[in-house]
Amino acid sequence: MDRRSLFETTATLGLGALAGCALPGVAQTAARTPFSVPATTVPIVGSDLVFPVRRIYCIGRNYAAHAREMGSDPTREPPFFFQKPTDAIQNVAPGTVADHPYPTLTRNYHYEVELVAALHQGGRNIPIASALDHVYAYAIGLDMTRRDLQRALGDEKKPWEIGKSFDRSAPIGPLHLASQTGPFAKGGIWLKVNGVLKQNANLDQMIWSVAEQIAKLSEAFELMPGDLIYSGTPENVGPVVRGDVIDCHIDGLPNLGIRIV
Ligand code: MN
Repeated sequence: MDRRSLFETTATLGLGALAGCALPGVAQTAARTPFSVPATTVPIVGSDLVFPVRRIYCIGRNYAAHAREMGSDPTREPPFFFQKPTDAIQNVAPGTVADHPYPTLTRNYHYEVELVAALHQGGRNIPIASALDHVYAYAIGLDMTRRDLQRALGDEKKPWEIGKSFDRSAPIGPLHLASQTGPFAKGGIWLKVNGVLKQNANLDQMIWSVAEQIAKLSEAFELMPGDLIYSGTPENVGPVVRGDVIDCHIDGLPNLGIRIV
């Protein structure tokens, strides 16, 4: 940088700072916004507190039989992850059946029941042995999927964003503190549509455990408090249409219910 450009830069910065200080009636510390954006939170059972959601991570093909039904070989694939936008969350109270809108653009709308881990500690390169210390709570969730768009985009080697990461694609029940539930290393996980059992498996059939998912994710991203991890779905995913009622269950958690409208 020569003398002239250095001088100009300094002068510009000085003028800007002076103007900022001199403006009457303008807050200098807190930025004001022209409108507000609602924060995404998830209720915590037995508490007045709500969990602030920072990011939603999802693992793909984490049960061998589901990986096979999606056309991949589960024995050779490392875990892969994608994200949903934070406001994809649809909170569903236990004992209720929440209306869930059938999304636009799809003709093959699928359910995927999943265990969700909620983090209260972050980090990079988290060891598997201490990974579960980062889990604050667990919940039952649905990774709703526009399967036709996910497949078509994947076939075209395009991002599958609109197949997975759309509005209200992440229904979730309230959080249950890990200090009270303990880890969910095993236990039944099932999903019914209109009372008919569709998905039925055990959490111990996950290819990558929740601890391993946290360890792997933290190699790619710095995890933070407020992150949710959808831990993958068992086999026998399938379509729903308007009017269908989905009832999902994980042993140790209240059921999650939605009606497609
Ligand atoms: Mn999923």
